[in-house]
Amino acid sequence: MQSCEESSESVDEPHSKGPRGSEEPHVIVIGGGLAGLAAASRLLERGFRHVVILEATGHLGGRVRSKEFCQTTVELGAAWIHGARGNPVYHLAEEHNLLVETTEEEHSLGRISLYSTVGETCYFTSSGRRLPRHFVEEFRDLYDKVFNLTQEFFQRNKPLDSEHSSSVGEFIREVMRKCIEEEPDDSSQTKRVKLAMLQQALKVESCESSASSMDDVSLAAFGEWTEIPGAHHIIPTGFTSIVDILQRGIPSSSIRISKPVRRVLWDSTEHCSGFSGSANQNGSSDGGCLENGIGGGGGGGGGGRNGTNGDSEKNPTHNMEPCCRVARTFPVRVECEDGECFLADHVILTASLGVLKERHGTLFDPPLPGDKVAAIEKLGIGTTDKIFLEFEEPFWGPECNSIQLVWEDDVGEESEQDQLRPWYRKVCSFDVLYPASRYGHVLGGWVCGDEALEMEKLDDETVAETCTELLRKFMGNPNIVKPRKILRTFWGSDPYTRGSYSYTRVGSNGADIDTLAEPLPYTDSTKIQPLQLLFAGEATHRKFYSTTHGALLTGQREAGRIVEMYAYGDGSEGKEKKLEELIRY
Ligand SMILES: Cc1cc2nc3c(=O)[nH]c(=O)nc-3n(C[C@H](O)[C@H](O)[C@H](O)COP(=O)(O)OP(=O)(O)OC[C@H]3O[C@@H](n4cnc5c(N)ncnc54)[C@H](O)[C@@H]3O)c2cc1C
Repeated sequence: MQSCEESSESVDEPHSKGPRGSEEPHVIVIGGGLAGLAAASRLLERGFRHVVILEATGHLGGRVRSKEFCQTTVELGAAWIHGARGNPVYHLAEEHNLLVETTEEEHSLGRISLYSTVGETCYFTSSGRRLPRHFVEEFRDLYDKVFNLTQEFFQRNKPLDSEHSSSVGEFIREVMRKCIEEEPDDSSQTKRVKLAMLQQALKVESCESSASSMDDVSLAAFGEWTEIPGAHHIIPTGFTSIVDILQRGIPSSSIRISKPVRRVLWDSTEHCSGFSGSANQNGSSDGGCLENGIGGGGGGGGGGRNGTNGDSEKNPTHNMEPCCRVARTFPVRVECEDGECFLADHVILTASLGVLKERHGTLFDPPLPGDKVAAIEKLGIGTTDKIFLEFEEPFWGPECNSIQLVWEDDVGEESEQDQLRPWYRKVCSFDVLYPASRYGHVLGGWVCGDEALEMEKLDDETVAETCTELLRKFMGNPNIVKPRKILRTFWGSDPYTRGSYSYTRVGSNGADIDTLAEPLPYTDSTKIQPLQLLFAGEATHRKFYSTTHGALLTGQREAGRIVEMYAYGDGSEGKEKKLEELIRY
């Protein structure tokens, strides 16, 4: 731990261009996913020294989580870098030679089965037959055309008229059903199969949007999500290589893992006032908190990255150091579940929309303003889960890059029974992880919505058995042997994600995303310290929500606001223009 004088005068440091002196800003970043890491590294890069990430779990990366499975690495969260030029995650990966190129051809096919650069998407029905290729292609052509129409409502400002429903699901179903039913050359049996394929396609779409149903996804706002051109790329060494790269710019002293935050007290100079880092080791005041400032230079922090919790007895950096004995008031105090507290000038919150939905009422004191709460409630986040199964032998053909499951009795006629259907009916497909030389014989299944939450409650054995039954039934092969191993995700029940990624739910739009991203307090008054609470994370990016690049850019955006504020002194002059530049991507 450096002394005060040392740290404030250490002009030789590489990052010596940032704000200095007793008023050096202290920044807490809540969450060590891509947004949090990007925010912290941007601040450190710009010379801010008092930056600490508080991460609830025992590891960094958040919804980027690679895991060893059988002979390879699979992605429990993000798997693909969507798009190339202009995608900051792509550029990071490229710079560090992490990419295996995928083709433009795959990109154009790529809304289904992105694992494989070769092969064919195989559709099987619940009566155990494979649908012919030409039939599938004809259906897919029609589906893709109708899907593209959904973009026009936002992109061309096409009004929703009374004929058109407000959700993507209703719109696609309505237009597709009309086309299918009006096709003069199709028998009624063919029409039924196409209607069943439509239902299956909507399940795939829900998994992609992480919505329980496409009927929940706003048609008017759908086209605002922006695709970055270029192929989709995977990172064979694991997406966590990106986490490692971002982490390299952050000293271990700035990272505290296994540090769940319980409460953020903001907008006050009373309960957060005091001396930066003034130890309150007996925890007798202020709600039993151990108050900590943020260690400066290379000294502070504690628990580090190795899974050990901070220990304020052993680690003096959690206590008051001379360097921080400067009378200061801090507008924000962050309380952790273990009772430790941190005082800060700025807090960048990166917890998921799911966490905010569940906990905004208790997490913030004072509570968030009404419009922010409304935005949190209106926007959507659902659960998309993955189920990886490793088989002894492949029972799919070498040409098959994915197995799509079409329930013939599901033709979209709403009934009570639909609501009661078992979870496995929502499993829409199994991707073949390709190439086998890297992955072995592994299938990756997809399930979303409430059914995913049901699946999360079951044990591995039951899920593996049920998936095998599904594959036997659809592939018409009763001899398929149960998988050797199973690995699956629990994004819905994970208390620190509560869902997979966000979407614009019916009734919400991009303006709600902007409201969510707006820093607090909302005021231009010079008497109130600005930028106390800043909001980053995938759900706060208007065009790239739900993605890794969106998350990363929001972290940089919020760090940028703080950088700008100190660059301009009072946080106002020229801010608008600069921020605009930062926020554009
Ligand atoms: C199944 C799945 C598949 C996906 N596929 C892709 C894909 O192929 N391509 C793509 O680009 N994106 C994909 N995504 C989305 C992508 O992973 C996310 O958009 C991105 O990783 C989100 O980053 P973030 O920093 O916003 O949030 P997170 O990664 O969720 O980080 C937030 C962090 O905050 C922590 N936290 C929460 N509450 C607290 C608290 N109280 N105290 C302290 N810490 C807290 C969490 O533990 C977490 O580490 C996928 C996501 C999932 C779940």
